Amino acid sequence: MHGTPSSRPDPAPQAPGPAPYAASDAASRGREHVEPLASHRGEFRRDRERIIHCTAFRRLEYKTQLFVNHEGDLFRTRLTHSIEVAQVARRIAHHLGLNEQLSEAIALAHDLGHTPFGHAGQDALNRCMQDHGGFEHNLQSLRVVDRLELKYPQFAGLNLTFETREGILKHCSKKNAKMLGTVGRRFLERTQPSLEAQLANIADEIAYTSHDIDDGLRAKLITVTQLRSGALFDEHFGAVESEFPGLGWRRKIFEAVRRIRNQLTLDLITASRAAIDAAGVGSLDEVRTHDRALIRFSDPMREKNQALKDFLRKHLYRHYRVHRMNRQAAKVVCDLYGAFSEDIRLMPDEHHGLATVAGERRGVSERARVISDYISGMTDRYAIAEHRRIFNAKII
Ligand code: MG
Repeated sequence: MHGTPSSRPDPAPQAPGPAPYAASDAASRGREHVEPLASHRGEFRRDRERIIHCTAFRRLEYKTQLFVNHEGDLFRTRLTHSIEVAQVARRIAHHLGLNEQLSEAIALAHDLGHTPFGHAGQDALNRCMQDHGGFEHNLQSLRVVDRLELKYPQFAGLNLTFETREGILKHCSKKNAKMLGTVGRRFLERTQPSLEAQLANIADEIAYTSHDIDDGLRAKLITVTQLRSGALFDEHFGAVESEFPGLGWRRKIFEAVRRIRNQLTLDLITASRAAIDAAGVGSLDEVRTHDRALIRFSDPMREKNQALKDFLRKHLYRHYRVHRMNRQAAKVVCDLYGAFSEDIRLMPDEHHGLATVAGERRGVSERARVISDYISGMTDRYAIAEHRRIFNAKII
């Protein structure tokens, strides 16, 4: 365990207290509906707690990350993925003196708008919604926390702070940004979000590249030999093999993946700290108006990480077995959309009622949006069961 880069201790923590460019509860731009301050717990912690208590968060347990939920108990789901992202995000925030509660809230909420069946489900729903504004999971995450969660007597949605909502909206077209008010403005003005938002975005990437290696190997879709064609995996797996030659296969893989995640995280902390120092930003406002994002990998690590992502795209995400499952998943989503569009009475009363009102008052695209909300909220197994109930056929 001695002498390898990945086994070095964490970089020294910042001096106690938040950095001047961190987001702070006191300087928050606030919530759309004014509420009494959460004096005993802080605003971003309150956001985090509201996210954990919401229905869409619990549903993440039964939504696909890469594998359809019922394929095995050991694979990541969107819930465990989101928890891993939160873990990485908090660690980075801690070392950079940023707001840990805010970065965790963003990380936990970042996938709330995902459809069943991962990207295959999203792409299918987007095709179905082509004439009605399309479907994008990132925008849908914001829609979930702003409108769809009906929990509190005083408002629809979770009434989260501007900073958490800004972090959830990672990317957005100009057309959509114009309709989103203040939270969409940065996409029109080309400014940056908070550092907490920037790091939650990269923490997502660190979490999925490392856990997809583990899940891909477990599913036997990729092999260690294939993975060793890439520098990042080869370097760490080789080190583990020479340090622990007698170790079991699974523990070797876990240790190599752990070291990769660790190295990516430490590189991000070091390179971001250097970028922040070089930019000389002294406040969150200066972070926002800086000409580029300050949370970043070093150039050599960005290249290695990109090579790993390219490998996973080619050998894992486009594997024929994944593709076959994706085709079936897309068919489930398209069939459901087609059936509900043709006859909205096929939807449960609550959704049927909403679709009727939306159609009568605001037209066909609003009606389609209600159908899309219903489908995107489904878990994998609920979508499969609905499909079976409506079409009386076993597809997955
Ligand atoms: Mg994610």
